[in-house]
Amino acid sequence: MPIDATLPYDDQNIFAKILRGEIPNKTVYEDEWALAFHDINPQAPLHVLVIPKGGYVSWDDFSARAGAEEIAGFVRAVGHVAREAGLTGPGYRLLTNVGLNGHQEVPHLHVHLFGGRPLGPMLAR
Ligand code: AMP
Repeated sequence: MPIDATLPYDDQNIFAKILRGEIPNKTVYEDEWALAFHDINPQAPLHVLVIPKGGYVSWDDFSARAGAEEIAGFVRAVGHVAREAGLTGPGYRLLTNVGLNGHQEVPHLHVHLFGGRPLGPMLAR
């Protein structure tokens, strides 16, 4: 079920639990600002989620409330994961779902990184 991304951050969400080590994950990268791990239900040969370490519901929540260093650190981490996965040459897709129309299911900001095959046109009808 998609969530209402205008609600306050809820630290009982599944990605908050992953950040606290309460739920296992298949980590591909971690630094001061971000954690990247394999999606449990991959939609492409490579499907990684990159999340900020801070508690933000969505991209616009993050961009409004996070500090400049935190934003830079997170954006750099996404690029780092894509490069390290060898996706720069063949290309890849970044996606962030927000709220009801965006069909966001987990209320902690996450960037999906897809790669490993031609991904087709952007939107399913
Ligand atoms: P979204 O619809 O953008 O909120 O996407 C949520 C994503 O989180 C989906 O692609 C799920 O497969 C993924 N997901 C949910 N629980 C886990 C988990 N425990 N570990 C890794 N990925 C998860």
